[in-house]
Amino acid sequence: MVPIQMVDLKRQYLKIKPQVDAAMTEVLENAAFINGAPVQQFTNALQSYLGVKHVIPCANGTDALQIAMMALDLAPGDEVITPSFTFIATAEVIALLRLKPVFVDVDPKTFCLDPEQVEKAITPKTKAIVPVHLYGHATDMEPLMAISGKYNIPVIEDNAQAIGGHYTFADGSKKMLGAIGQIGCTSFFPSKNLGCYGDGGALFTNDDALAAKIRMVANHGQSARYYHDVVGVNSRLDTLQAVVLNIKLPLLDEYIKARRAVADAYDAGFAGIPEITTPFRASNSYHVYHQYTLQLNGADRYALQQYLQEKGVPAMIYYPVPAHRQKMFEDFGGAAFNLPVTDDLTSKVISLPIHTEMDADQLQYIIDSVKSFLNQNSK
Ligand SMILES: *Cc1c(COP(=O)(O)O)cnc(C)c1O
Repeated sequence: MVPIQMVDLKRQYLKIKPQVDAAMTEVLENAAFINGAPVQQFTNALQSYLGVKHVIPCANGTDALQIAMMALDLAPGDEVITPSFTFIATAEVIALLRLKPVFVDVDPKTFCLDPEQVEKAITPKTKAIVPVHLYGHATDMEPLMAISGKYNIPVIEDNAQAIGGHYTFADGSKKMLGAIGQIGCTSFFPSKNLGCYGDGGALFTNDDALAAKIRMVANHGQSARYYHDVVGVNSRLDTLQAVVLNIKLPLLDEYIKARRAVADAYDAGFAGIPEITTPFRASNSYHVYHQYTLQLNGADRYALQQYLQEKGVPAMIYYPVPAHRQKMFEDFGGAAFNLPVTDDLTSKVISLPIHTEMDADQLQYIIDSVKSFLNQNSK
């Protein structure tokens, strides 16, 4: 059996190696490292894939979130509603810009922001809502966008974990995740569902004025060459990374299908086991399984992690400490937020390997290993 990894980037690369190597060599030979033609080509391709008017590439997903908040002219002290159950970047940029993170609890089934709780947390100082489509499952966007419209508060989707996923509205229409809020943000970190071979990110919007502002902020606040209107940042997608993304974007739907097949096999393998809650799939969310995350009830997840490691199966806890309990947010009153669902979930979750290259024998071995642990160790 091929050794099991959380994400097998090497085997995925080997399947596209001839195209990648040739395209990278071409960039090296043209020496068009910054803003080379492949960057614009990728921007156009992603626009049509997502059905969104503007894609603005940038250096990474964290920058995308920061640029989004800068482009919306958020000012120190403004409140930004976000989940605490997320990768730290989402909340970190809020604090970096001296905005106030307002942590709101998640839906216990989807692990994503609960729109009802969002509405309760709105004050006159609320200036943005940042849902995170955690692990590849959609936030319930229809009620969230209704709240956004009612209070006139923009939504920035953190779509770093759910690119290629979509959401179905009550009338049956579908939209790609990241293309629903006023701004969408994503990351092309290598292990993400659409990953490059270094850092990369992008913002999406259908709003022309916002797109112009985002472009300006991402490029030193520049309106015309060497004329700088606002304080911005330097955040670009390298040509070499765009080359990789141009090759991988046409494969994204296939990659997602491969992930969903792994999730189906896990779901079947773990069905009926009382200690395990498998990931929920809302009927309005096309889940892209950035992670396959179990909730473990009445069994020690760290003991399971240790047991699996000894059997050559990596497993990860995403995330052991929710944002509001991080030391980083002590001064922001983090721990004062009452988030029982987030606290409960972050004490129970464990993520198993999921990627595009998983073999049937690897999958069976992982399922059997988890089961044998539970047979020996259930409380
Ligand atoms: C990965 C990730 C980010 C940050 O992306 P980088 O490209 O690593 O900066 C932000 N939010 C979420 C939810 C992520 O998973």
